[in-house]
Amino acid sequence: MAFEQKVNDFMAKIIAKNPGENEFHQAVHEVVESLIPYIEENPHYSEAKVLERIAEPERVILFRVPWLDDKGEIQINKGYRIEMNSAIGPYKGGLRFHPTVNLGVLKFLAFEQVFKNSLTTLPMGGGKGGSDFDPKGKSDNEVMRFCQSFMTELCKHIGPNTDVPAGDIGVGGREIGFMFGQYKRIRNEFTGVLTGKGREWGGSLIRPEATGYGATYFAEYMLNAKGDSLKGKVVTISGSGNVAQYACEKVTELGGKVVTLSDSQGFIYDPEGIDEEKLAYVMHLKNVKRGRIKEYAEKYGCEFHEGQRPWGIKCDVAMPNATQNEVNEEEAKTLVANGCFVISEGANMPSTPEAIAVYADAKILYGPGKAANAGGVAVSGLEMSQNSLRLSWTREEVDNRLKQIMKDIHATCEKYGTEGDFIDYVKGANIGGFVKVADAMLAQGVV
Ligand code: NDP
Repeated sequence: MAFEQKVNDFMAKIIAKNPGENEFHQAVHEVVESLIPYIEENPHYSEAKVLERIAEPERVILFRVPWLDDKGEIQINKGYRIEMNSAIGPYKGGLRFHPTVNLGVLKFLAFEQVFKNSLTTLPMGGGKGGSDFDPKGKSDNEVMRFCQSFMTELCKHIGPNTDVPAGDIGVGGREIGFMFGQYKRIRNEFTGVLTGKGREWGGSLIRPEATGYGATYFAEYMLNAKGDSLKGKVVTISGSGNVAQYACEKVTELGGKVVTLSDSQGFIYDPEGIDEEKLAYVMHLKNVKRGRIKEYAEKYGCEFHEGQRPWGIKCDVAMPNATQNEVNEEEAKTLVANGCFVISEGANMPSTPEAIAVYADAKILYGPGKAANAGGVAVSGLEMSQNSLRLSWTREEVDNRLKQIMKDIHATCEKYGTEGDFIDYVKGANIGGFVKVADAMLAQGVV
């Protein structure tokens, strides 16, 4: 049977079993395209139906999250936890609070997480969860009451040796704090059940920075493999949240110039570059004041492009750091036509399949999210290790480990993705992430 027919047959079954879950279909399709040729060369995987099993969550937990708003009115949200795969360790992956959250989005994220966590070399399975709750515009007390209600149910299903959630879109230090407090109160135990905790209560240094730093290190390693570096490069970044902020910091530190940031209302273009002082303003604006990126343009007198994404701005390196499917085919073509030759994805699945095809045709350096943004979960894994040891490592120690992990992920992509003088990072990450999980599943029998 032709390769394409095999992919289509596999996908037809996935679509029939998971109707309407478009993002999940997209994520599985991308992985299956890389894996089917590899599995054909290694038929013990297909005989054991490893791919079919990996695409089915081990467990899906769905629950009601009722809470009282500041007016005393009852609000009801949906709560989810997808426990995707525990072959190589406890389920691990973030919680997302955003109105667009649904089962298909979380299943795509959990599926990607399985491969990503495997790539880090740390013993972590894959999971993801969250809610359609929107923290934007809510008071701290409302966010707290929501988090407490969410954790009242979730705490029955997670634990430091079972499932260890972290943050994602809409879940930062504040939300992790409220959820950790509620878990501790109900379970009467102080354990590393969540990562991304505050420094004083079990958090790791560099965890807030880890995803953005990691995606920047990954860009640097892709460039190094070509005898180049980030120094002097113009970089466009989307998003202005956790990942975008620390990517901006690290790019600047490594000698690059970041010229854009965005949020869901539009992007700012600052051709002078977003330096340390301007970034401090963004961090205060976004993390404390919880304002809009437009205010940056008003403060520094630069352009604000309402309702647009930054991919029309000329750059050498682009880092999509906001959300899924935020670079489409047209935008990818514009990036390439404008000379962009490196894409390092801090976000999960930010490029559409058509955009990825454009990068592949142009043979630019393309680091897909599951490799490029694995630094966040890697440092979460290091936070778990520190919690188990009841020790805190220094900033330098954690950062050095993060750099080494990103370097190792790059090497894995190189090992499985090299084709002549070109590294196919998508193929490298998919096969590299798969092998370890698949071998563990085979060793553990039909489970
Ligand atoms: P934050 O909530 O801190 O920031 C998200 C940013 O993206 C905000 O600027 C937000 O703008 C923007 N954004 C979110 N949704 C949309 C949308 N639908 N359209 C346009 N802009 C949007 O999240 P993070 O920085 O933590 O996460 C960003 C990405 O990185 C996500 O894809 C996440 O899965 C991924 N990631 C995060 C990790 C982490 O450790 N935090 C680890 C690995 C990956 P606005 O405020 O207007 O909504």
